[in-house]
Amino acid sequence: MQISFDKIGLEEIDFKFKVERYQTKGVFCKISKHLVKLHCQLTGMLETNCNRCGEFVNIKIDEIVSFLISNKTYNKKEALEVVEIDGDIIDLAGLIKGELISIKAGYYQCKSCETDKNLFEKEY
Ligand SMILES: [Zn+2]
Repeated sequence: MQISFDKIGLEEIDFKFKVERYQTKGVFCKISKHLVKLHCQLTGMLETNCNRCGEFVNIKIDEIVSFLISNKTYNKKEALEVVEIDGDIIDLAGLIKGELISIKAGYYQCKSCETDKNLFEKEY
């Protein structure tokens, strides 16, 4: 899903679409001339491997994702969390995909490793 920066107004617009096997649902609107705020919920199942033992695991993903998007360049001191775009097109699916990559790169454990870890921590 792509939207034109110029066409976004101050009123919140709902959106809902699928990226890979994940559902995303949220709103976006302009908060100033060069700044768009996007807020959404990302849900789905992540199939990955336990980072500890390599066992296959299914992780339920339910994340709130927020972005500030700007078509002008910010200096880092002004805003840390601003996604700068070139030109006028905001690639929503691309932004969500980027977010998915970092979610997928997270640290996940299977149930038995989690239990294991809890026991381990209790010993201290
Ligand atoms: Zn494990």
